Amino acid sequence: MSIKEVDFIWKNGEIVKWDKAKIHILSHVIHYGTGVFEGIRGYWSGDNLYVFRLEEHINRLFESSELYFMDPGYTKKELSEATVELLRENNIESDCYIRPLVYRGYGKIGLNPLEAPVETAIIGFPFGKYIEAEGARCCVSSWRRIPTDVLPPESKACGNYINSVLAKVEAVKNGFDEAIFLDHDGYVSEGSGENLFIVKDDLVITPPTYSSILIGITRDTVMRLCYDMEVKVQERPITRTELIHAEEAFFSGTAAEITPIVEVDHHKIGDGDTGEFTKKLMDSFQEIVRGKISNYKDWLTPVYD
Ligand code: PMP
Repeated sequence: MSIKEVDFIWKNGEIVKWDKAKIHILSHVIHYGTGVFEGIRGYWSGDNLYVFRLEEHINRLFESSELYFMDPGYTKKELSEATVELLRENNIESDCYIRPLVYRGYGKIGLNPLEAPVETAIIGFPFGKYIEAEGARCCVSSWRRIPTDVLPPESKACGNYINSVLAKVEAVKNGFDEAIFLDHDGYVSEGSGENLFIVKDDLVITPPTYSSILIGITRDTVMRLCYDMEVKVQERPITRTELIHAEEAFFSGTAAEITPIVEVDHHKIGDGDTGEFTKKLMDSFQEIVRGKISNYKDWLTPVYD
């Protein structure tokens, strides 16, 4: 995906020019992956920009940082306000992606990161679709998702994503849009950067937190929408065969939003098109994130007055 440059980046409490937001080559994070981040979306409604579930993303950023003993150096409120201020300064009037990052900077070499400085940055830029295909053609990856006692997937740490990169590259080189990981017990886990749901016999089923997943905020959004539609959701292990024989399947994630899964390992899911329930969710989701449904306005932080 190409990056659409804007004027400014927020770094360590200051708004700096895009080209000035640099780090030293010996920064700890580059060598050892010692950073944590968030991916957040902002949605343009036609007359305002809404940041979707900012509070939940900032909360997760702080949980991820805490695991690695990193203090972001700013309060949750300060980082939330900085996010809104940055988007305003950049005059963003389109859908966008926001990337807060807390990382170990320059100062120490070696595996103990505790003496390396912690730095914090926020980047926000215009952004469109992440998975380009209307419906994703997927493969089950030959790489397993990192188990929680090896590298906790519940924490959104930079180093975790090297596991995702292996799976994504394998999938793309084999002609698929996206990879689906199995967990270490052989059950379906998640995509390289998104959670997964299947639909079967009027039930919506998603892997549980113990299937090596990031506990997604979009996953939570989907579960809440199902609840509000009185559709039953089960969090339970899903076998590879169940996935193949699902009536519908879809990914959920900030970047991927709700993306239908239309094929897994050359097996069509349902009739190989976007499922009816998936379509309904996708439509509701788009209305909610743009402030068109008043019930869910609490999830939106407006950027402009
Ligand atoms: N799993 C992984 C590995 C991810 O990177 C993401 C994207 N953050 C998700 C799931 C979905 O999480 P969310 O809905 O909070 O973006």
